[in-house]
Amino acid sequence: MLTPPEYRLINGRVYDAVPACLYRAHGNAQARQLASADWLVRDRRDGRYVATLHHGRARFFLRNSRPRPRADALDELLFDAAAGSGLRPVSDLEPLLAELGLDVLEYAERSGLAPVAEPVQLEYAGRDRYRRPLWLDYDAAKAWRRMRAAAGGDGVILDAISGFRSAHYQMGIFRRKLARGLTVSDILQVNTAPGFSEHHSGHALDIGTPGEPPAEERFEATAAFAWLQARAGAFGFGMSYPRGNRHGIAYEPWHWCWSEDAQS
Ligand SMILES: [Zn+2]
Repeated sequence: MLTPPEYRLINGRVYDAVPACLYRAHGNAQARQLASADWLVRDRRDGRYVATLHHGRARFFLRNSRPRPRADALDELLFDAAAGSGLRPVSDLEPLLAELGLDVLEYAERSGLAPVAEPVQLEYAGRDRYRRPLWLDYDAAKAWRRMRAAAGGDGVILDAISGFRSAHYQMGIFRRKLARGLTVSDILQVNTAPGFSEHHSGHALDIGTPGEPPAEERFEATAAFAWLQARAGAFGFGMSYPRGNRHGIAYEPWHWCWSEDAQS
């Protein structure tokens, strides 16, 4: 059973659930249904709104709904919610990679990257630069709030550009690029395969600062970056991809990852 008001994202295999009050409706009929709901259930493949939950009772969005909502997938989601914290099995990735003609183990070996498990529950960590809800793993969310407040106290504004992103989200990037005529190997030159991004863990954040475009190398020249270099370690955050990193991944001064061991 999902009870309000809990600011969590329940990350199911087929569907996810988020607090209805944090999300906008597309159209009037949806708005009425959302306004009286505790939870919004979405299809993880495309973010499509599937149903709302109110006092534990489900109401599907039936109008023009294709494919038809799946009661079994909703039951599975409620089961995951009741089971509490933990990680989703990496076997969830197999169908996604198979769709791209890739094998999980073979890709792991070839890329030198490990599959990254997604948490079953994520914590609301405020809003990002675009006013979207920001979701992070529990400890990373706490650390991010503390770090952001400490930076603010030093006159430095840190913006979240992006936090948790699912393997399904990454798969969406691949589907869009394939539809534009690129091949899987073209896309792998610039994007990590679904299931292999640090953002899946809910520990990684892309950080920006007002007035600067997101995810550009020139972020390294900002006061925000200087502050992060001096202080982020104290909050458990480290830069994953410095210049000349051992993964051979391009320099990403904006990408920081929280880890339990990093705290000094
Ligand atoms: Zn990133």
